[in-house]
Amino acid sequence: MRLLALNCGSSSVKFAVVDTSTGERIVSGAQETDDRGPGPGIDAVVDQIAGDAQIVTGLQGIGHRVVHGGETFRESVRIDARVQAGIESVSGLAPLHNPANLLGIRKLEIAFPHLPQVAVFDTAFHQSLPPRAYLYALPRALHADHGVRRYGFHGTSHRYVAQEATRIFGLPAERARIVTAHLGNGCSTAAVLGGRSVETSMGFSPLEGLVMGTRSGDVDPGLHVFLAERLGLDLAGVTNLLNRESGLLGLSGLSGDMRELEAAEASGNESAALALEIFCYRLARQVAAQIVPLGGLDALIFTGGIGENSARIRRQVLEFLAPLGFVIDPRANADHGRETRGMISQPAPPFAGVVATDEELLIAGDTARVLAGREAPIPGSGESG
Ligand code: ADP
Repeated sequence: MRLLALNCGSSSVKFAVVDTSTGERIVSGAQETDDRGPGPGIDAVVDQIAGDAQIVTGLQGIGHRVVHGGETFRESVRIDARVQAGIESVSGLAPLHNPANLLGIRKLEIAFPHLPQVAVFDTAFHQSLPPRAYLYALPRALHADHGVRRYGFHGTSHRYVAQEATRIFGLPAERARIVTAHLGNGCSTAAVLGGRSVETSMGFSPLEGLVMGTRSGDVDPGLHVFLAERLGLDLAGVTNLLNRESGLLGLSGLSGDMRELEAAEASGNESAALALEIFCYRLARQVAAQIVPLGGLDALIFTGGIGENSARIRRQVLEFLAPLGFVIDPRANADHGRETRGMISQPAPPFAGVVATDEELLIAGDTARVLAGREAPIPGSGESG
């Protein structure tokens, strides 16, 4: 099936036209958005695709990444008026993202009225979390009345990576205990038990959990009031500080980009080195904590721009995790990466591995599955046909 996968974010619109039978990307690209919002970027993508007869003639459907599905959407769905209303009704939970996603859906509906559209939610995979994992210790009415709970994100990536790891490394599908670490600009872990997410590090918003490029991850909630008073910030100012000025960027004072920080560390920059150490330490602590929801650990799988490419980060995380029995294989760690999935530790469980993710490909794969009305394999899994 030839499908358009669209990811209308708050800062960019990414797209790919994918042939899901081969996993081939026919065309892909991104448009940066500016202070006019995502509209012009979406228009530019539509123009590019509609203007290329070779692409548009064979197109059979459109898949959209939608950040928040609330508790309404537990899996990817074909978009109709009711689904659009459902996405709108949870927009309060993701005020930067869901409106951009909806705008994309509506513009594409106008541009290609004959093509079916599918919504693929970042939160859906984590809807299997049990209440003990998703409830905060807050008055219960906040959940019932306002949807305050942990949702988790990056779900499509965690699901795919866990499924692929199970297959590649021959783990028992019904019982495999896997932690997936999606490390990109945003970072999260998922604890996946027999293919179902039972715990994840992100929560109500993508700010909870690990140290990220510019996000703080977990901080003491008491900090908000202190920072507001001490720095004279309003709530939006504190939120901005935690989301955009913290994480690797805040710790290093240099950059939120891993490549730049690795280069700085290599040339002797101590704050870059400390930022990377804290990144690895916090991740290792998070992985170790997943032994409780999983009841043990078979595999830790790295993915995302950092997880796939940074042998340095993987090494230090595994060093911190040595008490759990991980024994790194330095040569395999140096050799494996984006193009070469594989094991990077001694094979005795728990072991560590690298499996590349590809969000546009996953959106297309899910779209194909929904449009075919069946549980189709994800493209690239070697089973699609
Ligand atoms: P996003 O979350 O926006 O999709 P990515 O998954 O592409 O982002 O991850 C971006 C991160 O991956 C950046 O911090 C970038 O520096 C890092 N990265 C990409 N390539 C490398 C590399 N070769 N070595 C180390 N880090 C890398």
